[in-house]
Amino acid sequence: MTDIGLPTTSARALTRVERVGAHSHVRGLGLDDALDAKKSSQGLVGQVKARKAAGVIANMIRDGTIAGRGVLIAGAPGTGKTAIAHGMAKTLGEETPFASMAASEIFSMEMSKTEALTQAFRKAIGVRIKEETEIIEGEVVEIEIDKPVGALASARAKTGKLTMKTSDMETVYDLGTKMIDAISKAKVNAGDVINIDKASGRITKIGRSFSRSRDYDAMGATTKFVACPEGELQKRKEVVHTVSLHEIDVINSRTQGFLALFAGDTGEIRAEIREQIDNKVSEWKEEGKADIIPGVLFIDEVHMLDIECFSFLNRALENELAPILVVATNRGITKIRGTEFRSPHGIPIDLLDRLLIIHTQAYDEREMKAILEIRCEEEDVDLADDAKDLLCKIACETSLRYAIQLISAASLRASKRKSAKVDVDDVSKVYGMFLDVKRSTQFMLDYHQDYMFNETDTAMEA
Ligand code: ATP
Repeated sequence: MTDIGLPTTSARALTRVERVGAHSHVRGLGLDDALDAKKSSQGLVGQVKARKAAGVIANMIRDGTIAGRGVLIAGAPGTGKTAIAHGMAKTLGEETPFASMAASEIFSMEMSKTEALTQAFRKAIGVRIKEETEIIEGEVVEIEIDKPVGALASARAKTGKLTMKTSDMETVYDLGTKMIDAISKAKVNAGDVINIDKASGRITKIGRSFSRSRDYDAMGATTKFVACPEGELQKRKEVVHTVSLHEIDVINSRTQGFLALFAGDTGEIRAEIREQIDNKVSEWKEEGKADIIPGVLFIDEVHMLDIECFSFLNRALENELAPILVVATNRGITKIRGTEFRSPHGIPIDLLDRLLIIHTQAYDEREMKAILEIRCEEEDVDLADDAKDLLCKIACETSLRYAIQLISAASLRASKRKSAKVDVDDVSKVYGMFLDVKRSTQFMLDYHQDYMFNETDTAMEA
């Protein structure tokens, strides 16, 4: 491989798309200039010590003063560990790569555990590439793109940028020098439909109108353009784009190129490909064409990793290019998976020793209420004051997460009876409809004899 191919898109946009998810209300760490946490800011409430600690780490990452270090966020379930990690990602901004995964994911992928971890590490290492490029100015240029995978719904280009819309995201591609040169050399006219074979760069004219039925799916991963008028290739510009090492790996290891990134079907990547890419990237770095940005890899439920993965992490953190590893767990002293040994958080002591540990604390009633209010706002649910009080009481007696889940259920009930406001009756009805852990456990104890494979004594001992 002499010429390393690069993704022409910021595929990270894929992971940044967020609907109203569990943490979509979190917009940062909510710290002031002295890195002190405000009581409630940017969607985060309380947990001031942990937020400040996360802010200090984020600052060090931004200043490039730490690399290859690890942070452990430990605390009881529902105390905001994941929310704080999301706040950190938001604080660091789009420029710093942030890859996030749950440890259990590595057991379900069609690849070895260490390959899955290697891919996760490389997703968290960014390469900022500076490129001189020509852009097409002026007239709107129609571009269509075929859709060999997924839900590419429409594509349209303006001034050299190709905007691709799928059902839930929008990605902007830079056409880049190579393609624009190719279009220019092919002497195509406005309205011509051309096909550019991404692998060979060969251009074929297809005709003047775009024919979906004839050419759409047969072309595989090639891209079809309705080219711009000749003579409109103007202006040189320095374009900087950031891609992850993983994206470069995928582009250079699969025939379908960047589309594998959309399909998520990347498979195992050969070690020699990675070696070549690492060499090329260091070359670019020396020539001043690229900078390497170590980002953050967040692994939730880290106790789910086993001893092989932990020793992999120990070694990987020593790599010169390693990102910052942020892990979270709600486990106390428990068995390290794959061994008979117990350890704090189920993490081997030698790895724990490398981690800076941040603890989260239980919330008081006021904080729970504030979090519930933020969630109602995020989910666009109008809760009456007494309904809010009841929900807060439920959160204190059961769990914050359970109470958060009742918001949308109560809102559905309110809309069924055609009310824009959720009242106390809606909340209490859904509280009766869906059990929390405590009531469900009690139910099990009362009726355990009716169930199969019942092991009440052992379960209660555990
Ligand atoms: P677990 O150990 O079970 O994984 P966790 O500590 O990671 O739990 P989260 O998932 O972060 O807990 O929190 C549960 C819910 O409460 C999420 O929707 C989260 O966004 C919200 N939340 C928790 N703490 C805060 C906070 N301090 N401010 C705002 N929202 C919060």
